[in-house]
Amino acid sequence: MSDIIKFLLERIPKEFISSIYFEASDIIIYTSDKEFFLEGREKIKEIVDEIKKRIEIRASKELLLEKEKAEKIIKEIAPKEAEIVYLYFNDHRSIVTIACKNPSPLVQNNAEILKKIKKETFWKPEVIRIPINESKISEGIVNILYKSSFFRKKFLNEIGKKIYRDWTKEKKETWARVTFLGGAREVGRSCLLLHTPESKVLLDCGINVAEGNNKFPILNVPEFNIKEIDAIILTHSHLDHSGMIPYLYKIGYRGPVYMTAPTRDVTALLALDFISVTYKQATQPLFSVSDIKKMIKHSITLDYREVCDITSDIRISFFNAGHALGSSMVHINIGNGLHNLLYTSDFKYGKTRLIDSPPTYFKRLETLIMEGTYGGKENKQPSRKESEELVIRYVKKTIERRKKVLFPVLGVGRSQDVMLIIKEAIENKIIPEVPVYLDGMVWDITAIHSAYPEFLNYNLRKEIYSGNDVFSSEIFRRVGSPIERKEVLEGGPCIIIATSGMLVGGASLEYFKELAPEKGNTVIFTSYQVKGSLGSQVKEGLKEFKAFIDGEEKTIPINLEVVSIEGLSGHSDRNQLISFVSNLKPFPKRIILNHGEVNRLKNLSSTLNKLFKVETNVPRVLDSVRIC
Ligand code: ZN
Repeated sequence: MSDIIKFLLERIPKEFISSIYFEASDIIIYTSDKEFFLEGREKIKEIVDEIKKRIEIRASKELLLEKEKAEKIIKEIAPKEAEIVYLYFNDHRSIVTIACKNPSPLVQNNAEILKKIKKETFWKPEVIRIPINESKISEGIVNILYKSSFFRKKFLNEIGKKIYRDWTKEKKETWARVTFLGGAREVGRSCLLLHTPESKVLLDCGINVAEGNNKFPILNVPEFNIKEIDAIILTHSHLDHSGMIPYLYKIGYRGPVYMTAPTRDVTALLALDFISVTYKQATQPLFSVSDIKKMIKHSITLDYREVCDITSDIRISFFNAGHALGSSMVHINIGNGLHNLLYTSDFKYGKTRLIDSPPTYFKRLETLIMEGTYGGKENKQPSRKESEELVIRYVKKTIERRKKVLFPVLGVGRSQDVMLIIKEAIENKIIPEVPVYLDGMVWDITAIHSAYPEFLNYNLRKEIYSGNDVFSSEIFRRVGSPIERKEVLEGGPCIIIATSGMLVGGASLEYFKELAPEKGNTVIFTSYQVKGSLGSQVKEGLKEFKAFIDGEEKTIPINLEVVSIEGLSGHSDRNQLISFVSNLKPFPKRIILNHGEVNRLKNLSSTLNKLFKVETNVPRVLDSVRIC
């Protein structure tokens, strides 16, 4: 028995406890004592303060009200405006999930209604929001989690046992180092290995989607052994950070992957899209749908600022990174406060239409690992306002000459930004009303946004809370099949938003093949183009390219107008990177730069070093940096 459980059993009277389980780092006490279930929190307050761990009291099976009766009561108590869609009773964990269209009336006023549900049914209510535009993937994920609820109870308990393994043991040795397995002096295949005396944790594990030799992180090194990885932390859903994770489950990883809930949903979608694209290219996909399911079954979601032990010497919390829905910086506390690391991953220190700007205050901070995608001297992005005006100007010009505009996008982040800009411009009659086609994944990913308003900025959150789905409008149309795609291409002037962002496969490439030869059409890039990708070559003035059309390789001329708008980027530009660093409190002792082209990173590194007299470092792939 784990020491922490022994400790609890000594301190809490036996008659109150039916069993104790871990749910990762949370401790769950199941009780069959009604009073302890309802009032026990007060009784254990002292213990919680002493051990500083989250302890939750739940009813054991014999206490739970029968499901039919509980369902009736919940539907009676819940205000009609909540619009309950379904209830799911998880008997393994004594939780009832209330899925509804509008959670606000359930959670307002100090969650009085939820407390009442708990008191009358003994089930612990948990509320989830059903997006107004229902999304198949959200439903699918909820289903996978429910179907595996027995597995998850065991799995989370095993993780807890590992986290608390050496709870009472004095930690003698303390050091930590980070090995860059990918994404250093380059963009793509982000993957870092954090190694301490007790733990090995992966930070992101992505793929370089552009063609080339450096597609995957380098995993065949002595320090990487899949069986020894304790946890994976995923900062956000973009494939260059998440793309390899289902593959890690394929090759035998069975530990947890920590991320925010929207990151879990969007990552699953992008992974599905990724393998369907490879199928179409008739190559062997890297992983299968069942590996994506494994990833979901092993996921642990955290809210921003929630503190969570993930191993016996590592504690993490996520902070909003301003980059895309659910994207996070991760603050990592090593060796019970001995060393504090902030890994920014991709972040936008500035305003966007979607998400707030990231915080710069952290309780403690010694090492900063920061991205530098746009860290070069030349990387001053035009203002948000100018960039939005550019989008509108080019769209307007193209539509007025009765042609088509294509936005190749990553699916999450810029897609929704562009949607909001265009929606507003059409509503204000600045551009003529034409259909805006969202191909495949973009539609589903947008639906996920309205399921998680708490991850969006204040304005959008307020709109969604009041029942207004900001992402829905008559002008947005879904394109789901090649036949519908053909209709779009044969139809009149329109705007098309489609994945992938760099024209490397996916719907955007299909559109590009058809739109490229015709003068008057426009392609607008709003996201970073990795060197070697078709997108990056088009941006640099490529005149023609080879592609398969109906199984036949053809040379396609590029005559359309090519526009690149950097000011909408989800990455910070050079000034934003520097001002983020200068606003950091406390100021870090060391700054390590990754995720950027080598010249940009070196330049940023020397600037930061001069400005702040701080140690800076630009590691190469496979370099290890000792941080404490
Ligand atoms: Zn990203």
